[in-house]
Formats: sequence, C-alpha cells, structure tokens
Amino acid sequence: MSTETIDTSTVEHIIQALSEPPAPAAEVVTLGRQMAERILSWLEDHPAIAGIALSTCEEVSVLRQALAEPKVELWAIHSVGPGEVYPCLSKEHAEREAKELFEQGEKMKADRIARGESVEHWHDWVTNVTPSPWEPAEHFEILAEETADHRNDLIARLEELEAKAEPQKSCKWTRDEDTGAYETACGATWHLFDGGEPEEHGQYFCHHCGKQIDD
Ligand SMILES: [Zn+2]
Repeated sequence: MSTETIDTSTVEHIIQALSEPPAPAAEVVTLGRQMAERILSWLEDHPAIAGIALSTCEEVSVLRQALAEPKVELWAIHSVGPGEVYPCLSKEHAEREAKELFEQGEKMKADRIARGESVEHWHDWVTNVTPSPWEPAEHFEILAEETADHRNDLIARLEELEAKAEPQKSCKWTRDEDTGAYETACGATWHLFDGGEPEEHGQYFCHHCGKQIDD
C-alpha cells in the first residue's frame, strides 16, 4: 500500500489513537533484591527448568537485566529527638531541608536567649540526611501525600490572609442624583444634609462598615 492510498479506516484509526486516553500501566510487583537474586541463582543452578540454554531463557535474562540496573538512590531526613523521618526528592533536597530545620532551631534558641529565657535544657535540633527507609513506590507515595498536605496548608493560609486583608478594601458610595443620598456598597443609605461630597464633611470612612469611602 502506497502512502497515497491511505483509506478512511486508517484515518479513523489515527484519530482514535490520538483521542484515546493512554493505556493503563502493566502491573508491577516489587521484589526484594535478595529474593530476586535467590530466584536467579536457583534457575541458573537448575538449567533443566529453563528447558533451553540459560542464555536464551527469557525469565533468566529478565532477572539478570533487572538486577543489573543501578540501585535507585533515595534520600530522607531524620530528625533526632522526635525520631521523625521524611522522604525527600533528592539528596540536595534532603540537605537543604536539614539545613533549614537546623537554622530554624538555632533561631528559636537565639530568640529565647534574646528574651532572657534559659536555654539550659535546650536540645539542639539535629537532622540527619539518610538513605530512604522506604522502597521507591512507597517513598514517592509518602512524599506525594506530604506535598499535597503542604499545598492544602498553604492554600488555607493564603485564604486566611486574603480574608484578613479584605477590611483594607474600600466601600463604594454611589450618589443618587435625584435624592442626593449615597448608597453604600455595604447596604446603607446616607443623606448629607448640606449636600456636597463626603470629604467636605470630613468623612473618609463609611459609618456602616468602617472601610475607606470610595466615591
Ligand atoms: Zn460601608
């Protein structure tokens, strides 16, 4: 079939392939290295099981390949004292986090000293960078959960700050041309008996909501 004769079913296939969601990943099981090595050496010791030469046995070559892959290096930080362990994205990330925690501790200690409080029973915050105690899937699952929690905390904090900043905004006063009264954005009506602008009466803040007048 030449390229000029692409029929409609081929086009339909292409369109279908482009609009389809990706296929789900094949299920993967995690096996300890020691167990995988034991299975491999057991197979190698019993070539009759392979039925054919070990060099062409698929199971043997898959295991050999998997075991030859470099070890995935994952890092965590361990806070001595509370004994908490947190997964990190990389060693650099772990070192940065450990340094920040250390500095945070030093600052708290310095603040205590500045307030004239005793630091006699103060324990310096020690955070170590250590290889991860979790296998990769678990490591990243915990990391993802912590990152999502952190994100939610930040959003909540941002909303709190936005709500606090709200009173800083002004209250819009709109003058009714017929009556001369002002309708305020916060739902009140004000009549200035002598007319004129609120500023002429020394009014800069809304009597009803306390915000700065925007007229
Ligand atoms: Zn108001």
